[in-house]
Amino acid sequence: MQYFNFHTHTTYCDGSETPNLYIEKAIELGFSAIGFSGHAPVPFINEWSIKPEKLNDYCEEIKKWKGVYNSKIPVYLGLEIDFIPEITTKFEVFKQEQQLDYHIGSVHLVKHPESKKLWFIDGPEQGYINGLENIFNNNPQKAVEAYYNQISEMVARERPDIIGHFDKVKMHNKNHFFSEEESWYKKIVKDTLKIISNTDCIMEVNTRGIYKKKTNKLFPDISILEQCYMLKIPITLSSDSHKPSELMNYFDETIDILKSVGFKYLHTLTLKGWGKVEII
Ligand SMILES: [Zn+2]
Ligand SMILES: [Zn+2]
Repeated sequence: MQYFNFHTHTTYCDGSETPNLYIEKAIELGFSAIGFSGHAPVPFINEWSIKPEKLNDYCEEIKKWKGVYNSKIPVYLGLEIDFIPEITTKFEVFKQEQQLDYHIGSVHLVKHPESKKLWFIDGPEQGYINGLENIFNNNPQKAVEAYYNQISEMVARERPDIIGHFDKVKMHNKNHFFSEEESWYKKIVKDTLKIISNTDCIMEVNTRGIYKKKTNKLFPDISILEQCYMLKIPITLSSDSHKPSELMNYFDETIDILKSVGFKYLHTLTLKGWGKVEII
């Protein structure tokens, strides 16, 4: 089938190449579209997001390529926006100010409900472990529930077009601190999916954890995808690529998994807005 990717990082944030090289690769791969989702600026110093003073340059450059490649491939301007309650900028502000085509909402930092300290789940493994110990007092259930509650709050307050790597909190766990089979884990996932199913947010099926060998499962896991299917939550497919060569990593294998779950369609952005394409 004709692929696309809306989760793409360039040198404006933590990706390895400039935007045009991803577009050239997407054309070579026969993609139907490519969307850029640089990490939106956050109000604290870090090594992975677009610097606030570079945001306009990023948006202008993507808009420029949109025109240049107009006859070859549709190019879309997006951001992957962090949601941290009371800390991050409203998604709608980015969307309006930068005339975004779409946004991906992601939780990479989990705010402790009382101490307000932030647990970084997407950095080095040791930071994840230290956060569980020091911020959540060796209580993985409390930490993981805070993660999923933050996703529910993001969905309720910000209505992202796409929910990024829904169960990323499992990445560094590797069954050391909690089991995804425990009843409390299943319950918080189920409750979060219920909230998502009452919106038109699209669930991202993200292959990066597998091809980077950080986990041997998709984000989200098959058991969660089965629930998405039952709840009629729409899905899209992304590689979360940080290099042009990663653009369609593990897509063929993931399509087979999605077919086995029963999915018939993927959601994609078109010139007329969000639409669905048949999985073949
Ligand atoms: Zn992310
Ligand atoms: Zn990303």
